[in-house]
Amino acid sequence: MIAPAAGLPSRTVDVLIVGASLSAAACAKRLVDAGLQTLVIERKKLPRHKICSGILSPRGHRFLLENFGPLPREILHEPTSCRGVTFHFPKAPSIDIDFFGGPTPHLYRKNSDYWAIQRSGAAVEDETSFAGLERTAEHVDVRVTRRGRPETIRAKWVVGADGPTSLVVKSIYPDYQHAIPWFLVGQKFHDIVKCPLDQQYFHFWFHPGLGHYTWSHARDGRQIVGVGFDAGHNFDKAHANVVRYIGKRHGVELGPAQDSEACGENFGLSLINKYVFGRGRVLITGQAAGFLNMMAEGMSAALHSGAICGEAIAEAAFHGEPAQRVYRRFIESEVRRCSDQWNPLQIAFGRPHEADFWAALRRLGWTERLQVIGEVVMFVRLYAKFRWGRQILGQAVERLLKGRYDARRWW
Ligand SMILES: Cc1cc2nc3c(=O)[nH]c(=O)nc-3n(C[C@H](O)[C@H](O)[C@H](O)COP(=O)(O)OP(=O)(O)OC[C@H]3O[C@@H](n4cnc5c(N)ncnc54)[C@H](O)[C@@H]3O)c2cc1C
Repeated sequence: MIAPAAGLPSRTVDVLIVGASLSAAACAKRLVDAGLQTLVIERKKLPRHKICSGILSPRGHRFLLENFGPLPREILHEPTSCRGVTFHFPKAPSIDIDFFGGPTPHLYRKNSDYWAIQRSGAAVEDETSFAGLERTAEHVDVRVTRRGRPETIRAKWVVGADGPTSLVVKSIYPDYQHAIPWFLVGQKFHDIVKCPLDQQYFHFWFHPGLGHYTWSHARDGRQIVGVGFDAGHNFDKAHANVVRYIGKRHGVELGPAQDSEACGENFGLSLINKYVFGRGRVLITGQAAGFLNMMAEGMSAALHSGAICGEAIAEAAFHGEPAQRVYRRFIESEVRRCSDQWNPLQIAFGRPHEADFWAALRRLGWTERLQVIGEVVMFVRLYAKFRWGRQILGQAVERLLKGRYDARRWW
C-alpha cells in the first residue's frame, strides 16, 4: 500500500482536510486552536448546496454555540426552529416527540456550513477536489484538482471529511464500496395548497408500503416530501406514491413537484458497529466514517467526531503517539453515543435519544401503545434483507457486558 509520491508536492501543510462541511469545520477548529497549519479543500464552489433537512439535535446545537458562537439568522431556514419529530403509522395514531430542552435550529446547510468553516480559522480552498493519495510513514501526498489543474499537496496528516460517498475512503479501502449496502434517498419541494402537518415538527412515516425512509417538513414556505428507494427503483414513482398517500391520510394538498434531488447514503454502519476510521496518517471522520444517528440525524455526530479527530491529531503532533491509534481510542465515546441510538437494549432501558419516545407512547392508551409497537416492528422488517439483526444483538450484548462496542470490527 505504501508507495512513493508520484507528483512533486507544490506545498506542505500539517493537516489537509477533504470536504468543507460540519465535520471538517469541527476538526479544523481543534487543529487551528492547537496551532497546526490546516488546509481544507472543497470540491464545490462555496457556499455550496447540501441536501439535508437541516434539523439539528440539541447536542449539535450546543456544539455550534460552544465552538462557533451564536447562530446568525442567515444560517437558518423558515421555520427557524423545530420542536421534534412526529411519527406516523399506517393505522396507529400519530405521536409528537419533542426534543429535550425545547426547539432546536432548522439549519440552512448552504450558509451554516460556510459559516462554521470560516469560524474554524482554517485556510479553505473551494473548487478543489481530492483525486487520490500516496502514503508514506512520514507524510501523505494528496493529488487534487484545483479549478481544473492537477496539483500535489504534502500533509503530515489527511482527514477524510468528505461525506457518505467518500473518495478518501475509496482510495484507502478499494473494496469498501462493494462491501456495504447503499441507500438512495430523494426529495422534492412543493408549493402548499393545504397542509395540516404541524410545521413545527419533522414528520416521519413508519409505513412499509411507502419506503424505507419517508419524511416531510416545511421549509421557506414550501413543503418537502422525501423518500428512500432501492437502487434500480423509480424515485418519481416512490415520491408520487407518498404525495398521494399523505393527501388521502392527512389531507395534505400540494402543488406540482419542483427541485428534485437525490443522493446515496452509507446508512447502516453505526447500527452494526462497522465504522471506517482510516489507515496510518489518513483519518476518516463524520458520515464518511459511518456516523449516522436515529432518523438519519448526522450533524451532531459529524461535529463531535470531527472535533475528536482534530484532538487526536493534535495529541499525535505534540506527544508523538500515532494519530490513528489515538483517534481509535478517543472516538470510542462517539461510537458509544451513536451506536447506542440503535441498540435495542439501550432503547428499552437507557435514554440514548434526545427526544422521549416512551413519554410520547405513555400518552396513548394500552391498545394504541401496542398498535404503535406492532407497526414499528412491521416497518423494521423492511430491513431484514440486510441481515443486521444478529450483528446488532451481538453488539448490544458486548456493550452490556464490556461497556463499549468491539473496536476490532472497525475498518
Ligand atoms: C436527505 C437528507 C436529510 C438529512 N437530514 C438531516 C437532518 O435533518 N439532521 C441531521 O442532523 N442530519 C441530516 N442528514 C445527515 C447529514 O446531512 C449528514 O450526516 C452530515 O451532513 C454529515 O456531515 P459530514 O461533515 O460528515 O459530511 P457532508 O455534510 O456530507 O460533507 C462532505 C463535504 O465533502 C465535500 N466533498 C465530497 N467529495 C469531495 C472531494 N472528492 N473533494 C473535495 N471535497 C469533497 C462535499 O462537497 C461536502 O461539502 C440528512 C441527510 C440527507 C441525505
